[in-house]
Amino acid sequence: MSDVILPGATLGVMGGGQLGRMFVHAAQAMGYSTAVLDADPTSPAGLVSHHLIQTGYTDPAGLAELAQVSAAITTEFENVPAQALDKLAETRPVSPAGSAVAICQDRAREKAHFVACGVACAPHTLIETPEQLAAVGEDLLPGILKTARMGYDGKGQIRVKTREELAAAWAELQRVGCVLEKMLPLAYEVSVIVARGRDDQVVHFPLQENLHRDGILAVTTVPSPHVTEAVSQQAYAWAHKIASSMNYVGVLCVEFFVLQDGRIVANEMAPRPHNSGHHTIDACDVSQFELQVRCMTGLPLVEPVLHSPCFMLNLLGDLWFPNGADQGTAAQQEPDWAAVLKLSGTHLHLYGKTEARKGRKMGHLTVTGDTAEAARQVALKAAAILGIASF
Ligand code: ATP
Ligand code: MG
Repeated sequence: MSDVILPGATLGVMGGGQLGRMFVHAAQAMGYSTAVLDADPTSPAGLVSHHLIQTGYTDPAGLAELAQVSAAITTEFENVPAQALDKLAETRPVSPAGSAVAICQDRAREKAHFVACGVACAPHTLIETPEQLAAVGEDLLPGILKTARMGYDGKGQIRVKTREELAAAWAELQRVGCVLEKMLPLAYEVSVIVARGRDDQVVHFPLQENLHRDGILAVTTVPSPHVTEAVSQQAYAWAHKIASSMNYVGVLCVEFFVLQDGRIVANEMAPRPHNSGHHTIDACDVSQFELQVRCMTGLPLVEPVLHSPCFMLNLLGDLWFPNGADQGTAAQQEPDWAAVLKLSGTHLHLYGKTEARKGRKMGHLTVTGDTAEAARQVALKAAAILGIASF
């Protein structure tokens, strides 16, 4: 235990988004100070942190200052350049390591890692050159063309049915490196969040089921109403394997597709806490953000327990524009939080973003209940009040 970083120390995080904000909240609750590096002066995490280092991710002075004030450093954003994490690691413990983040940042490397771990994933091929485009087999169509780097919330993806559409899609994506994936018949989607400590211990949260709308996570349900014991055991085993084989330290989320024939395949992974784990704050005895703190400080990990069935609803900026009102018009209005909070079992989280924009993640609402059905009924009422489509 000699190298455990105890409360009182300062913990640093690369990135100031909502994941960083919830990390800061967890770290502060445990008695740590925090430092956030983000170029935005009003980032969600920067607004609540002891220190804000307002620079870009690769700014040498900013990185030096973050390392100077922090006893250990983590990341909340997977597209932080891996070299920036490597630079920080010259003087401070950084988790996850730049080498692991580099795999997760690149869909081609990510898929290669799944394959190397013996984890099933969608049939796919890399498209970086016109020759590779020409060589694509018919068996991958219809498919989804995804940029290898920088995609999120369904951005940087185009669905294609024919070779002609594929060529046009690659042109539309500026002919950057892409992965073409076969379109699979999904039954439903799940994710598994694991935490791995410096001592190789791996723990996981109970698997969650995720409903996406327009490529963005809309609703997370725990326990998953559809999953079988065999599928969840496979998902846990694969998530552990994926983390261990990268020598990963920190919180890692692996997204899976469950296919109509019952098979499970890995979709992608995120080297940080994940939107599908936000319910862990209110429905589990330890949150994904607290486990991020424990991993980076060398504190013990415990197997998380779900104490309440729950639903998590993402609160997108669209809710501020009821009846299709346009951005920036007087018709923009604050959702009726009071009506939602009147319902017992509702837990409101807003990220402190001043401007609502359509598709922007403004917050989330977790609904816990004594039973899954009770939580569902309250979640449906809250959704109706807020203008979120039923599920
Ligand atoms: P995230 O916000 O999770 O990072 P992303 O933009 O990286 O999202 P993916 O997770 O790759 O995107 O895909 C978004 C959604 O599109 C998936 O959750 C799934 O619903 C659908 N999808 C992606 N790939 C496939 C596929 N091969 N077959 C069928 N559906 C797919
Ligand atoms: Mg995804």
